[in-house]
Amino acid sequence: MREVRQALGDAFKCRQTVVVAIFNAECWPVITPIELVGNGRRWLLRCPSCGVGCMVLRASGLCSVGCNACVRHRRRKERERTLRSWVHFDGALEDRLVRAAFRNCPAWLRARNLMALSAQLLEGDRDRAAAVLQHSDAARSVADDALVR
Ligand SMILES: [Zn+2]
Repeated sequence: MREVRQALGDAFKCRQTVVVAIFNAECWPVITPIELVGNGRRWLLRCPSCGVGCMVLRASGLCSVGCNACVRHRRRKERERTLRSWVHFDGALEDRLVRAAFRNCPAWLRARNLMALSAQLLEGDRDRAAAVLQHSDAARSVADDALVR
């Protein structure tokens, strides 16, 4: 929605439909007219599939456009929350880092958040590396004992 408003400028207020190009997962543009719905203060894009007003439309396939519910879009957290990498290897923290990088806030605040999150990620990596070293030392001592006998 923000991109549509920026592209149209003042002409946005007198439009009822706009023609948009939305890129699908394969980076092919899906070009389609989209109806605008709103009350003057708040404007939304009408989903061509279900008719609900929404801020974001997504392309799925070669010619289909819809809201998050219609194209079954899931955020990374929703897709990966049960994976081992998400639970045990700071996947959630990594996701927060990526989101913080694109957050719309002052640059100094974004930099401070990114530094804090990256420090947490590095600390987790150091802990895991230390655990791996302990396990490898234990394995080496067992192997040395086996060779001596
Ligand atoms: Zn929809």
